[in-house]
Amino acid sequence: MSGGACIDWLKPRLAAALLCFGLLVAECLSAGQAGAVERSRRGELKRVLLLHSFGREFRPWSEYARDIKSELERQSPWPLDIQEHALLTARFNNPGPEAPFVDYLQSLYQGAVPDIVLSIGAPAARFAQKYRARLFPDAPLILSAVEHRLINRTDLGDNDVVVAVRNDFVAAFDHILEVLPDTKSIAIVVGASPLEMFWREELKRELKLLAEQIELVWYSDLSFEEILKRSSKLPPHTALFWGLMSVDAAGVVYESDWALRSLRAVANAPIFSYQEPFFGEGTVGGPMHLIGETTSRTVSAAIGILGGAKPASINYEPIAFAAPRYDWRELQRWGISESRLPKGSTILFREPSIWQRYHWQMLMISAVFLVQTGLISGLLHERRRRRVAEVESRQRLAELAHVNRYSAVGELTTSIAHELNQPLGSILTNAETAELMLRAAQPDLVEIQQILADIRRDDQRASEVIRRLRSVLKKTPFEVKHIELNDTVREAIDLVKALAQGRRITLSYLPALAGLHVKGDPVQLQQVILNLIINAMDAISDADAGKREVSVSTLSTGNQAEIRIADTGPGIPASDLASLFDPFFTTKPQGMGMGLAIARTIVEAHHGTIAAANQPAGGALFTIRLPTAR
Ligand code: ADP
Repeated sequence: MSGGACIDWLKPRLAAALLCFGLLVAECLSAGQAGAVERSRRGELKRVLLLHSFGREFRPWSEYARDIKSELERQSPWPLDIQEHALLTARFNNPGPEAPFVDYLQSLYQGAVPDIVLSIGAPAARFAQKYRARLFPDAPLILSAVEHRLINRTDLGDNDVVVAVRNDFVAAFDHILEVLPDTKSIAIVVGASPLEMFWREELKRELKLLAEQIELVWYSDLSFEEILKRSSKLPPHTALFWGLMSVDAAGVVYESDWALRSLRAVANAPIFSYQEPFFGEGTVGGPMHLIGETTSRTVSAAIGILGGAKPASINYEPIAFAAPRYDWRELQRWGISESRLPKGSTILFREPSIWQRYHWQMLMISAVFLVQTGLISGLLHERRRRRVAEVESRQRLAELAHVNRYSAVGELTTSIAHELNQPLGSILTNAETAELMLRAAQPDLVEIQQILADIRRDDQRASEVIRRLRSVLKKTPFEVKHIELNDTVREAIDLVKALAQGRRITLSYLPALAGLHVKGDPVQLQQVILNLIINAMDAISDADAGKREVSVSTLSTGNQAEIRIADTGPGIPASDLASLFDPFFTTKPQGMGMGLAIARTIVEAHHGTIAAANQPAGGALFTIRLPTAR
């Protein structure tokens, strides 16, 4: 690109850049004006210098500072610029030179003196008092969250306000003995920084009298690690008193709540303290300094001074311990009874009881439980009633079946008589023959022996007929037992075969090859089979000679045993099939219509089914299905 061409290329771009710059300047000016308008509307900015003692996160001061700051911001009608500095030198057990920190603050605040200086804790108060003439001679000073003993009264002037507290260690220790009267020794946790050493001496001085009653163990010469070890193995009836632990004897600094939490985790004795910032973190409680009391005085003094009030006009008495407060969780943990607590105590952190926490759920469960109990007892009652009804119905069934058997056997009378007559006749004939033979000079004893054997066989035949009859006629309650179905059916057939012969009916029986085991009452089942066979024989009473057959068979189908009774009769009219098993349904002039109804009741009592159908080739087929026994 040549020089001329380059200038041509730059010209439009420069013009655009200048335009943008112009717009930017105009924007900034208008924004600055708006900010000024806003400031003047809200009032003058107030600058507050907050001086921390050990650092921003050292308890208890951190909690006081946090509360004061947020309350100040909340209440201030002016915009605030709160600048915070921490006096790091207070951390060292042998304080180092403070000059560099003083120089730093001096250069920072030269020509920009804060509207108010607020110190938190004793080291910060001491520092502010010592260097105020050099750093901010005209700024009002509020010495807050400090014990009144640590204020240098001689250096206080008209521009100063003190918001102090008053520690009453005798009251704090007396209180421990009040709630735990068996206490024999109290171990005192206090660090080793100059401030903590000061308090150790003060404690020793104040507790001189108490030391004659109980043992006071001092942990200030120990590293915190060692304190933790000892606190985990304290003898019974010991309590721990948490004074301060900012810096331990080994020079280790403890910020935040780590130290107290660690002690709480290992200690085998309750921990007491007199400061709210440690309350709720593992201390039992007792009379204590409340953050809110110091905050309200400090903030009201600060707002007053910022608004033009004279610091000398603001005077506060040191704040004493507030009424005792207790952590319910710690009371539970150490088994301290609420009845031991002094009057006017407040118990905090109370955990809701299971009833309070799960009020609705428990009510619901109880309601469900009650309903369930009602339902169960209702069901049990119903079951008992059903059982009773079942027993009653079985009894009736047995009685009805018994009556029905009589009527069936009535039909068998002729054939039974015939069956008995046959063997009895043979017995008579054989007996007469034997008598005749015995009269001979040389009786044929072998022949006679043969005749006597025949007599015995005929006698057994006759008694078998009577046994079968008696067994079918006996009145027995419904009784379930393991039976072999092939045998049961055969016995029933034996009872009717004479009747069949008399009626010139071919009665055939084809049993299943394998045994059919079912659970049932053999007498009742035989009655069903008898009924069905007699019905079948009735149906073919008018049939021609070649078509007079009743075939009975048993077979196994899966987990069921089947009995089939088929005949060569006219079958059942389709219109009758549905009502065949109804009581009193009969097509016979002398019929009762109860046989099939009773048969169905008996089969159903055996958890089985009975069905009637017409065979394709003609004639009826009755099928009984019973569950096989396992
Ligand atoms: P009843 O024998 O006193 O009539 P049942 O209850 O034993 O009483 O039989 C009811 C009716 O079912 C009989 O009247 C008859 O009409 C019909 N029935 C029963 N078995 C057969 C069969 N094998 N063939 C045709 N009809 C039958």
